[in-house]
Amino acid sequence: MARYIDAKCRLCRREGAKLFLKGDRCYTDKCAYERRPYAPGQAGRLRRKMSDYAVQLREKQKVRRMYGILEDQFRAYFKKADMMKGVTGTNLLSLIERRLDNVIYRMGFANSRDQARQLVRHGIFQINGRRVDIPSYSCKPGDVVVVAEGSRKIPVILEAQDVIARRGCPAWLEVDGANFKGTVKALPQREDITFPIAEHLIVELYSK
Ligand code: SF4
Repeated sequence: MARYIDAKCRLCRREGAKLFLKGDRCYTDKCAYERRPYAPGQAGRLRRKMSDYAVQLREKQKVRRMYGILEDQFRAYFKKADMMKGVTGTNLLSLIERRLDNVIYRMGFANSRDQARQLVRHGIFQINGRRVDIPSYSCKPGDVVVVAEGSRKIPVILEAQDVIARRGCPAWLEVDGANFKGTVKALPQREDITFPIAEHLIVELYSK
């Protein structure tokens, strides 16, 4: 499957925001965006006025890159969100937030969404007693995620409790690190996504 091979930190600098793509490093002073908070390349420091289209495009790219979703799949999420009841932008964020790779990351069982995706593909998580190895699996309230017994000695899994203590766990999830278990308590609400996202710009972009 196609995946980004560009240096991850360049993506943050390109989008003008910390996208937290490199795990613990993102929380240290080694963060490339903290050191060079401007776009990569020779023209990176120039301040240019962006067109409305460019602003919308950048917002979409920022979210897509943060969650590690390819364009076709992201557009499919938008179509689904548009057909759902309620506010399209909020629906879109809720759909991508419910992806299993994101849930694993939010539960602290991985340091980044990329790492979560790899762990999911390795089949180390069970949902409601069944192995699920599809990163895009859409979690629903009541789902119980458990780390398979044979994978509980993986360092990142053992560190999950520390990670949650450091990063915090969103209210719609519950983590029982000692038992290698997490529960989806509810659907994510807009206020659960604290990263600054102007989702209306994405809706405007795709609605053209
Ligand atoms: Fe982005 Fe900083 Fe993490 Fe690199 S270290 S991925 S620039 S947040």
